[in-house]
Amino acid sequence: MKKHDQDFIKRQNRLTVFEIIKNQHPISRASIAKRTGMSATTVSRIVGELAEQGYISESEQVSSGLGRKSTLLDIAASSVLSIGIELDTHQIGIGIVDMKGDVVFSEAYPRTADESPDHTIVRLESIIGDCLKRHEIDRSKVVGIGVGLPGIVNHKQGIVLFSVQLGWKNIPLAERLKVLTGFNVAVDNELKVKALAEHLRGAAIGSSRTALLGFGNGVGSSLILEGQIYRGDWNSAGEIGHTTMDPNGALCECGKAGCLQTYINISSLLGEAGKIRPIRTIDELFEARRAGEGWAVHLIGRALEYMAITVNNIVCMYNPDSIILSGELIDRFPGIYEEVEALCLTRFVWEPVRGSFHILRSRLNERGVIIGSGLLAQDWFFELD
Ligand SMILES: [Zn+2]
Repeated sequence: MKKHDQDFIKRQNRLTVFEIIKNQHPISRASIAKRTGMSATTVSRIVGELAEQGYISESEQVSSGLGRKSTLLDIAASSVLSIGIELDTHQIGIGIVDMKGDVVFSEAYPRTADESPDHTIVRLESIIGDCLKRHEIDRSKVVGIGVGLPGIVNHKQGIVLFSVQLGWKNIPLAERLKVLTGFNVAVDNELKVKALAEHLRGAAIGSSRTALLGFGNGVGSSLILEGQIYRGDWNSAGEIGHTTMDPNGALCECGKAGCLQTYINISSLLGEAGKIRPIRTIDELFEARRAGEGWAVHLIGRALEYMAITVNNIVCMYNPDSIILSGELIDRFPGIYEEVEALCLTRFVWEPVRGSFHILRSRLNERGVIIGSGLLAQDWFFELD
């Protein structure tokens, strides 16, 4: 076997062992050997290296069955930190994420829709520097930055190819932020990192086929298959918001007509509402519905039906075991979840597959993108380490 093949296998084995400790801690060396098929010697060598680097800790515990003492391995959560960023039209969210996916702190800063890429990138640098300083974070523990944003992202190179919501096109975000901060930067689509976070630390732990739907300023989806993000060829898989529902429908911000999101997303709902009377916020629209104003009842009722139709389409196409409903509309109006679930199970999901999946609430809610971006940055670090 060639030297670089051996190195590759060693690295892969190390990653596999580390992943198992990260996701199934506390765990014994013997269980790792059993699960991976590696020899006890190999597992012990890798565990020794990881412990020496300070990534994992050991503790003596008495196993319940035989009363024998065994040594269990856990991750040293705060030995590695990353910066998770959620970049959205009107807000920049930032958090420090540890190895267990816990958020050490998080903050949010307003952003205007017309803020230029240059301005946003310079602001990101100053927000990051300021946060690390104020919260007295040891920079040597920070292994990188992860950024999640709406749009199509070349995740390998960290280039934002196209984001309608941000108004960005071909922006080499990772490279530019790395030059400014000195940290490695991973960039990905927000729903992809959110689904990863829900799969690793949230609502869909243990699921092997998770679909996440996002209903908010846009409409999108993402899929985690056997623990991996399904990306497609251009990392644009899941852009369901721009599937055509009616070629003669209302214009979408993407330039096409009758896209799915024109029936659901916040700006479309506010645009329609504005035809009746001046409605500025989504809360006012829901208030009008609660007060029984017919047009508002119709408008939101129709949006919920299209959400249920989206669930049906995803279930028919991908046969996931879990579907997570997420996004600003679901987070801010939790009652929507029950209404959509009821619509799915009584009317919209094709009958033969109704029992094939669980509909779940997002557990990480608005912190999902920060956690997922942070974990993605850590994954990059350990893959390169
Ligand atoms: Zn569209």
